[in-house]
Amino acid sequence: MTDEELWQAVLAQIQLQISPASFATWFKSTQIVSQEEGRVFVSVPNSFAREWLEQKYNKTIFKVLRGLDNKIKGVKYEVGKLKTDTLKKIVPFSIESGQLEFQEFKVDKNTNLNPRYTFNNFIVGPFNELAQAASWAVTKKPGQVYNPLFIYGRVGLGKTHLLQAIGNEVAQNFKDKKIRYIPTGKFVSEVISSIRNRETEKLKSKYQKIDVLIIDDIQFLTGKEKTQEEFFYTFNTLYEKNKQIIISSDRPPKAIPALAERLRSRFEGGMITDISFPDVETRIAILKSKCQEREVNISDEILNYISLKVQRNIRELEGALNILIAYQKLNNNSPDLKIAKTLLKNLTSSPSRTVNAKKIIQIVADFYDLKEKDLMSSSRKKEIVRPRQIAMFLLRQELKASFPFIGRRLGGKDHTTAIYAYEKIMKEVDKNESLDEEIRLIKQRLLCA
Ligand code: ADP
Ligand code: MG
Repeated sequence: MTDEELWQAVLAQIQLQISPASFATWFKSTQIVSQEEGRVFVSVPNSFAREWLEQKYNKTIFKVLRGLDNKIKGVKYEVGKLKTDTLKKIVPFSIESGQLEFQEFKVDKNTNLNPRYTFNNFIVGPFNELAQAASWAVTKKPGQVYNPLFIYGRVGLGKTHLLQAIGNEVAQNFKDKKIRYIPTGKFVSEVISSIRNRETEKLKSKYQKIDVLIIDDIQFLTGKEKTQEEFFYTFNTLYEKNKQIIISSDRPPKAIPALAERLRSRFEGGMITDISFPDVETRIAILKSKCQEREVNISDEILNYISLKVQRNIRELEGALNILIAYQKLNNNSPDLKIAKTLLKNLTSSPSRTVNAKKIIQIVADFYDLKEKDLMSSSRKKEIVRPRQIAMFLLRQELKASFPFIGRRLGGKDHTTAIYAYEKIMKEVDKNESLDEEIRLIKQRLLCA
């Protein structure tokens, strides 16, 4: 058997054992370059792939190799150039759809985790390498290294994915650990309703039982003092018991306004790591992996084009791909570059993308963890009135909508209500730093919508 045949046999077996996304990402452009005294030297395209193969797949690779040739004693990975692309010969990935793990996803009721997010389908590049490595370390020894683990980065760059992947991985490694993933907005509403129902003790004791607490988008604690107090309490209790806490935010603790100093210093006592913007290679790797996941073929030329157009947001990167996939499914034909460019014209012409009233209302509701119909209602509850006023404010500021239109759009209110809301928020933004921040974040979301 030649080296090439041997490696092809190895790949064919590994392909059946791991997800298509990981296979495409990590085994592409690998080959056996030589064998010496039972050692197999495998060439990989970059140091990243090398580390990943060493740490994650070495056992599998070695086992398969030994199964094929029992004289083999070890495998070494080297960064280098290839002669031929072995992987090309075994595509298209002949994996029956039954083996794909990406078909249906149900959020687990107890943990709140979505099984869609795993380390396997999380592509690593220099921009997120540290965050990923720290996360992986935490899954091995929850509560014992990096506590709390604080991951920050701009919107759409993979924070939620990584946080949930930690949860899913720990759930697999430690069956008896109680894990809870919670978006901060949801935590805030739990606290508010526990106060209203006089059940704060119950809430406290619920959180005290958790072994791994994952809290997403902590910047939304801004200005919410009562909730910060509850969170501080929970944080300390868990921390003292060596329970793992993982936090994400759109910026470092230092830069979160109105975050109680004691919370800030707690966060700073652990591991803080960021996710920055993906480099072009990783953007392409992500696109390729998503194509595998979705079982579609899109030309390299087009993937390169997308990766150059969308540079700072992985969610948008996926969005662009989704448009092309939809086209392909509808037309039974892959788009060529010219069509792709036309299809993606709007998507990539930021910043004044098509923001409309519906989007603004949707995003405001989402931001405050409310339903759209709450904003439309005539409820006078503070936690609804304020978001409603903010929606009105944004409709005016972003769309220059008329006050009668704004009133009507938010559940048939009078135009004077819209004027009042607009002026009130307008005045307050200047004085209230946290409100200003909330509005900035909402606008940021509007840009990415
Ligand atoms: P954030 O929470 O930072 O706003 P998300 O975790 O929601 O971002 O990521 C946005 C989308 O991009 C998700 O669909 C996620 O699966 C995908 N994504 C982000 N980072 C990666 C990555 N490194 N590899 C693969 N997919 C990613
Ligand atoms: Mg997120």
